[in-house]
Amino acid sequence: MSNEPAPNSRKPLISGNWKMNHNHFEAIQTIQKLAYALNPRDYDHVDVSVHPPFTDLRSVQTVLQADEVPVSLGAQNVHMASHGAFTGEIAPPMLAKLNVEYVIVGHSERRELFGETDEVVNQKAKAVLAADMTPIVCVGETLEQRQAGEAESTVSQQISGSLAGLSGDVVAGLVIAYEPIWAIGTGATATPNDAQLMCAHIRSLVRSRWGDSAADSVRIQYGGSVKGGNAPELMAQPDIDGALVGGASLDADEFARIVNFRLYQA
Ligand code: PEP
Repeated sequence: MSNEPAPNSRKPLISGNWKMNHNHFEAIQTIQKLAYALNPRDYDHVDVSVHPPFTDLRSVQTVLQADEVPVSLGAQNVHMASHGAFTGEIAPPMLAKLNVEYVIVGHSERRELFGETDEVVNQKAKAVLAADMTPIVCVGETLEQRQAGEAESTVSQQISGSLAGLSGDVVAGLVIAYEPIWAIGTGATATPNDAQLMCAHIRSLVRSRWGDSAADSVRIQYGGSVKGGNAPELMAQPDIDGALVGGASLDADEFARIVNFRLYQA
C-alpha cells in the first residue's frame, strides 16, 4: 500500500490578483485573451477568478457575462461597512451587485502598507460573507519571522484573529491563501515541501478549532511567485488547493498555463 496521501476532493481555485495594474481598456483585452486561451473543458477541474482594480470591475463583468466565460469575478479589497460616510471606500453590497464572488481580505500589502490588523481582516471577512460573497483570507509570515522560527506561530495567530467568531459551517466555505511575504513579487517561491507543510499546519489548525468537516472542505491556496513552470509541483501537494497569483496573472497566456497546471504534471 502506498504512503502517498489520497488526492483530495477539493476543487482548486486559481485566482489572479492584478493589484494596481491595467486600466479598463487593458483589463478588457486581458480577460478576452484569457477567455480565448482557455477552453470550456479546462474549467472542469479548476475554478478560476480574476481580481482587477475596482475601476475595471464593470468592464470585466460585462465581458464575462456577454461571452459566458466561466471565470469568477473577484475584488482585491473592500470596506467592512455596508454604506456610509467613508470617502474613497467600496462597500460589499456594491461588489455583490457587480456579480463579484470572491474578495481578497488581508493581503500582506494591505496589512503592511495600510496597517490592516487581524481584527480589521476579521471584520472585512464577515462583511464579505454578509453580502453573500466568499472571502479569500490571506496569511503569511515575513522572512525575519521565518528565520526566527516563528512562521507557524505567526500564521496561527493570523488565522485565529482573522477567522474569529466564524462557525465551522462558514469556515468550510472559505478560501485561505497562505502567502509567505518573502515570496511575494520577489521571484523566490517557497519550496513545494515548505508550502505544503504550512498549508497542512493551517488545515490542522482549522481541524482542531472548527472540526473535521471545515478542515476537509476549506480551500487553502498558496501564493508567492507562482508561475507556469512551478505551478504543477506546488499544486500537486495534498494540502494546496489552488494558487493566488500576482505578477504572472497579468499575462493571460502565463495565467492560462497556471490554470492548466494539470497538463504539465508528471
Ligand atoms: C500576490 O500578490 O498575492 C502574489 C502572490 O504576488 P506574486 O505572484 O507576484 O508573488
